[in-house]
Amino acid sequence: KPVVAVVGRPNVGKSSLVNRIIGRREAVVEDVPGVTRDRVAYDASWQSQEFTLVDTGGWETGVSGLAGVVAGQAEFAARAADAILFVVDATVGTTDADEAVARVLRRSGKPVVLAANKVDGELQEADALALWNLGMGEPFPVSALHGRGTGDMLDAVAAVVPQTPEREEDEDEDAPRRIALVGRPNVGKSSLLNRIAGEDRVVVDATAGTTRDAVDEIVELGGKPWTFIDTAGIRRRFRALQGADYYATVRTSQALDRAEVAVVLMDVSEPLAEQDIRVVEQVVESGRALVLAFNKWDTLDDERRYYLEKEIDRQLSRVSWAPRVNISASTGRHVERLVPALETSLAGWDTRISTGRLNGWLKELVAATPPPVRGGKQPKILFATQAAARPPQFVLFTTGFLEDNYRRFIERRLREDFGFHGSPIKLTMRIRE
Ligand code: GDP
Repeated sequence: KPVVAVVGRPNVGKSSLVNRIIGRREAVVEDVPGVTRDRVAYDASWQSQEFTLVDTGGWETGVSGLAGVVAGQAEFAARAADAILFVVDATVGTTDADEAVARVLRRSGKPVVLAANKVDGELQEADALALWNLGMGEPFPVSALHGRGTGDMLDAVAAVVPQTPEREEDEDEDAPRRIALVGRPNVGKSSLLNRIAGEDRVVVDATAGTTRDAVDEIVELGGKPWTFIDTAGIRRRFRALQGADYYATVRTSQALDRAEVAVVLMDVSEPLAEQDIRVVEQVVESGRALVLAFNKWDTLDDERRYYLEKEIDRQLSRVSWAPRVNISASTGRHVERLVPALETSLAGWDTRISTGRLNGWLKELVAATPPPVRGGKQPKILFATQAAARPPQFVLFTTGFLEDNYRRFIERRLREDFGFHGSPIKLTMRIRE
């Protein structure tokens, strides 16, 4: 989601305008400089364009003097945002602080929409026009109080922010979810597919233009259809096409490209191999939801079981969040448990947290466990937003570098508190220098 920062000096009506845009769904406190807000970021949308609206009014800048403070806020906002909504009080006209902001914004090269606020009636229309002198393009006369003109202003905002990509969810809600069944040779992929789908399954969907001879099969599992991707790469009769290790890796990556969730199959009758770990890493990097399936469980004795636990702890700790199922493709043991595991992973992968909820949560988390001091300074987390789902991606806006440990802590708590089980999470920072 693109970030739109609302900048301007105090009392021009930034908070009221934010309230107007988000439809007063969330409270915003008084516009007092130097006061850190409870929340500064909100989900907003106009027509079908979605964006995160950030009220910069409460940010401390460490600069003194009104013009300096406001310009400092604008400078950081411009760095962190995709577009700027610059609010000026039309009834007051251009002040030194407004001009300082305009200079900063022009230098930033970011798209700016100029809102001339407090145009409550025809009397102030001329005042709005006078704001052309800021050199920020056309002033949009608005009244945050009455809502007047905000539609045109938002049209202008929507026109300058990067387009919201077509949501994948809208693609086809009812289409079967797409599974890539992956793992090194001989772990039992074709046995498992045969167990689930049967030997003589009719080929239902040949996909052109991807892997040569890629064949997807729709398979019923737990009373629901699922698409298994590139089953031609798995089915025994095509095995000759697979060739060397390299082609298996390429085939896996092409299957992952089209998949939503991957089942990584491993063979418990042998020690976990480097190749197993590589496949798991390939899945994590692809950003697909993940289920770990341990096959040939029928061969397991107590001794092997003991070592297996150790191997899993040691080699798969990076994906300790992924659901695991212990199965036997030969006997059919617990194969049906793949379904709840797939559903758990996909649910996390699909999750979108609203910006309001995310920041409420973050505020409590940071209050209870603040980021460690670094170089004598306490980094502050200004706000966070979920930039995307599938896989979930979060952006943290901070005043300083957060240590890896602390980032991992945030990631772990995100997983626990919002139920991101089985999905990789991407967490990035944007730092105000
Ligand atoms: P793929 O290369 O991953 O498709 O693996 P295959 O399905 O061809 O299986 C490799 C070998 O493992 C075959 O000899 C299978 O019979 C055997 N196998 C597969 N699943 C199981 C299982 O659950 N238990 C046991 N004991 N053997 C299995």
